[in-house]
Amino acid sequence: MEGQKKVETILSEMIRIPTVRGVSEKYKMAAYRALLEEEFPHVFSVMEKTPIEEALLLKWEGKDPSQLPVLLSGHMDVVDADGEGWEYPPFEGVIAENQVWGRGTLDMKGAQCAFLYALEEKCRKGETPERTLYVYLSCDEEVGGDITCSAVEYLKEKGVRLQAVFDEGGTLAEEYMDCIPGRSAVIAIAEKGSLTYEVTALGKGGHSANPGSGTAIARLAAFICSLEENPPFLRELPEEQRACLRAAARYMQGEKAEKFAAAAEEQDPAYPILHTICDDADARLGVTVAFTKIEGGHSANVLPEKAVLTMNVRVPASQPEKDVTRLLEERAGKFDVSVKLCGGRDASAVTSVDGWAYRYTEEILGRVFPGMPVIPFVLGGGTDSRHFLKIAQEAVRFSPIYIRKEQGSGVHGKNERIDVRSLYESVEYYREFLKNL
Ligand SMILES: [Zn+2]
Repeated sequence: MEGQKKVETILSEMIRIPTVRGVSEKYKMAAYRALLEEEFPHVFSVMEKTPIEEALLLKWEGKDPSQLPVLLSGHMDVVDADGEGWEYPPFEGVIAENQVWGRGTLDMKGAQCAFLYALEEKCRKGETPERTLYVYLSCDEEVGGDITCSAVEYLKEKGVRLQAVFDEGGTLAEEYMDCIPGRSAVIAIAEKGSLTYEVTALGKGGHSANPGSGTAIARLAAFICSLEENPPFLRELPEEQRACLRAAARYMQGEKAEKFAAAAEEQDPAYPILHTICDDADARLGVTVAFTKIEGGHSANVLPEKAVLTMNVRVPASQPEKDVTRLLEERAGKFDVSVKLCGGRDASAVTSVDGWAYRYTEEILGRVFPGMPVIPFVLGGGTDSRHFLKIAQEAVRFSPIYIRKEQGSGVHGKNERIDVRSLYESVEYYREFLKNL
């Protein structure tokens, strides 16, 4: 656009200001926010700005107060990178090989730059949206999002109810599930919950020459094997997973399409069809348990008096924390170990693919990327949107960013980069998104 810098130039500047929360010399949030105000002046003059600590809440009053507002959420913070093994340094915003390189290009300064760019155009034209639009730029998404909770409280106190929150999550993926050729728009309609437990086994201690059986480490090990071999949790394919398979089947042909369609309706408790088509069938079927840390003992010839296991448990919406904790406690009792919940959250509510927010997203995708498959899925991790679901009816987690297979490892990994072409497509997507609000 005339008079405005190229979108890739602005993104490059955004990458050059590190915003790694928790690393003081790499956390230049004030400078980053100042850059946004400088590059998107109309956004910041037209929209009402409320700082929530270092995060920013922007509001654009719509013409039609009878429609519930929507909120676009994007995080300004990024995870750290030491630069080792990178082709271009992570915080220099190098533009090379038709890509912008650096930490945050995919997660998620790229999408943020694209939507602010489109918003700037709209604000500059003096257009007003029908519905009220909020934009929330968080500063602590990668470290838990406590400040976002304050933002939600602030809105709640003001009596704000949202139709929908739009956040990151899905992308334009390549060869989705290795079955759909080309690009697909995958949209997260739910997030699994994440619970962390500590499991403790106590022992008598003593010399290792006469251990007897059932020592602390042996009981912990037996508990682990039992959970792996015979998990106590409900195993069923939830409706949100069925919706994903059903949608994917529509974009396939022949035998594959039939298999996916059959898996979507499968009722056999062993789910044989699902297992033939998905590597991640177990994760789709419900609770997963990852054993992530284990501690116990300090000497080769002394029995430990205590051994402690940490496990991270991901849960679907159908299995709330209290059920999962009860099942784990029952199982722990059989091995004389104790289970303690250390923190975490339940799964998010599931957004319907027949609701306004999903349909709206589908409609825009149809205009910007005609013919592209649109597939709902469940996110294994968490985004800021979960906090907003306290005041929002729906959440759609999707950035119109194209991530080629080899680029996928860049999110939180090495050589994070975005195609310049994808940035332009994203701007186009957000133009449509804003035009029809
Ligand atoms: Zn992110």
